Amino acid sequence: MLAKATARLGTETAFEVLAKARALEAEGRSVVHLEIGEPDFDTPPHIIEAGIKALRDGFTHYGPSAGLPEARAAVADYAGRMRGIHIPPEHVVIMPGAKPILFFGILSLVDPDDEVIYPNPGFPIYESVIHYAGARAVPVALREENDFNFNLDDLARAITPRTKMLILNSPANPTGGVLSRDDLEAIAGLAQKHDFWVLADEIYARILYEGEHVSIMSLPGMPERTILLDGHSKTWAMTGWRLGYGIAPLEVAQMMSRFMTNCNSCTATFVQKAGIAALQGPQTAAEAMVAEFKRRRDLIVDGLNAIPGITCRRPRGAFYVFPNIKGLGMKSSACADGLLREAGVASLAGTAFGAHGEGYLRFSYANSQANIREALSRVARYVEARR
Ligand code: PLP
Repeated sequence: MLAKATARLGTETAFEVLAKARALEAEGRSVVHLEIGEPDFDTPPHIIEAGIKALRDGFTHYGPSAGLPEARAAVADYAGRMRGIHIPPEHVVIMPGAKPILFFGILSLVDPDDEVIYPNPGFPIYESVIHYAGARAVPVALREENDFNFNLDDLARAITPRTKMLILNSPANPTGGVLSRDDLEAIAGLAQKHDFWVLADEIYARILYEGEHVSIMSLPGMPERTILLDGHSKTWAMTGWRLGYGIAPLEVAQMMSRFMTNCNSCTATFVQKAGIAALQGPQTAAEAMVAEFKRRRDLIVDGLNAIPGITCRRPRGAFYVFPNIKGLGMKSSACADGLLREAGVASLAGTAFGAHGEGYLRFSYANSQANIREALSRVARYVEARR
């Protein structure tokens, strides 16, 4: 009954595990939630106030598909300053969350039979949308021994004359890996030599614990072949507001805006007003969140490394750890399932992010230190009981 193309549409397991965990809670079980990738903080008050003011001021109507002019200008200024480049406001499209940029960006550029290279393990929506577009999804492994970054030889081998796009994600979900400037320069060289696009998912750009964020869009020759994806969800704890933005060469930005006209008409205008306050207002709350994430990262990394059979790298960005559980002798999905049902800890199997995630779990540490401590002792007890 359903259209054939729908068979190619994937999903995001985090939402399924969340539903399972909630069902267990409804039966009276206690679950520590380390499955979902969203800050546990509230949106900073000045942003909420700006949203309420905008509602009172009448920002309750349709706006332009590409975004309010003042929102596009604010994003161009903020995103450009952060990356040391000039971004024309007409290259910015405001969208309800960052996910539509993946969908509209890929559908704007990729034809059936084109090839799109993407990280594995990686955010599952990449593979889903590539398949939905009818293109060939070409995974490149991110290996632990390479600090979960591309091995440039693997990447070079994946490129063919049909390669239309490469998806990058730095800092990365699910591994917390961060691409170095050297790697980005080498990748930019490949993109120019082989004439393909880069979709740079920089949604975690501000959740970085060491060094400066480097964007491939800031490298020479790259603004004309890059779609930059960023948004408000993670930086200002605004996941439920649905606010993101894509930055691309004019023709691509105009096409993404046409998709907006077809799908959403526009992003809620009062939400865009709140978004401007986030970009232009005080950054103290956003910075305090990153400082707290860093403390939690150290807590969870040290705690996991103290459990026999588990080893965990210390990620440099985002709010996920991707511990190696090969020493437990269990498949990732069985381990994630056992942890949820027997120990009351919700996590994701590494394989939820692709086949190269086998042997790993993903824990989101966007949860309180007390809950992380509780989760660690539950994991330790679960592992101990199986020895
Ligand atoms: N890209 C990555 C790598 C993510 O992890 C997420 C959310 O989890 C998104 C994009 C989507 O962000 P949004 O909630 O703003 O659509």
